[in-house]
Amino acid sequence: MPYRIHSQNIPVGISACVLGQEVRYNGGHKRSRFCTDILSKVFDFKPYCPEVAIGLGIPRPTIRLVGDPEKPRVIGSDDPNLDVTERMYSYSDTTSKQLTDLCGYIFIKNSPSCGAFRVKVYNDDTSSKSYGYPSEEKGRGVFAAAVMDNNPLLPVEEEGRLNDPPLRENFILRVFALHYWRESVEKKPSFAALVDFHSRYKYTLMAHSQKGYREAGRIVANHDKKPEREVLDQYIHCFMTTLSKPATRKNHCNTLQHILGYLKRTVDGEIRKDLLEVIDLYRRGIVQLSVPVTMIKHYVDRYGNDYIRSQVYLDPYPLELGLRNQI
Ligand code: SF4
Repeated sequence: MPYRIHSQNIPVGISACVLGQEVRYNGGHKRSRFCTDILSKVFDFKPYCPEVAIGLGIPRPTIRLVGDPEKPRVIGSDDPNLDVTERMYSYSDTTSKQLTDLCGYIFIKNSPSCGAFRVKVYNDDTSSKSYGYPSEEKGRGVFAAAVMDNNPLLPVEEEGRLNDPPLRENFILRVFALHYWRESVEKKPSFAALVDFHSRYKYTLMAHSQKGYREAGRIVANHDKKPEREVLDQYIHCFMTTLSKPATRKNHCNTLQHILGYLKRTVDGEIRKDLLEVIDLYRRGIVQLSVPVTMIKHYVDRYGNDYIRSQVYLDPYPLELGLRNQI
């Protein structure tokens, strides 16, 4: 059976202003049409606004991060006497530990609360020449950092980065994969469930990294006879890490050629030659990934065996999202 979990709504956290809620400091929002109009059809969004949650109100004075980029304080941008450090850390720690059912999180850039990457942290050393200026942009919003640290498997992205097709595809792929892991393995953990999961995701892993693919295989083989829980934890860590980098065009081509190998005995040589040519068109950037995948899937569905037809690689998320039309 081909892999299909598309009818289920997957719980995904999101900064409330990205959903169009008017919770920003000025009473505005940062609605993302891609999230509200497209992704909301497949994700069950759970919105959070940490600044409202800690009682800052709407409208409110803006806040910023100062001091140590690893553990910044949170103070008013215009009023240094406004110090919400304790409140923000306490809320972030408590709430982020309750998000264990989420399969992804969409944050927003530059926010001292919800920015996931490269948030400005201002220098507060009065003896320094750069006092009052942002240091290297390597900070994270306090809430976003707590969510990531307390849920290390969770795929996270910033709303703006979802405009980048490879990053968007990679994020959504990981959300669907983590959800499938929770549904198919974690609900009733067993070695058999792990083997089935790994078997379905083999070509997805291969498309992301040969090294990760081999490492995941070693973990499943479990030659050291480790306890089940330990193996499952090791596996999903390796799996999510391997998927966290977008697959390259070269690796996709290699994977598609492997899949084509399963049609050797059942599909005419001329057709296989045509399919190889389409893979080559993709390799050269003339067509998008959806073209070779759709053609190969057509033959796999009709002439492939159960193993190859069950590969998630051929059907990792709903086709309607059009993600492979853009990479
Ligand atoms: S705290 Fe987060 S959710 Fe609230 S307005 Fe700022 S970025 Fe949006």
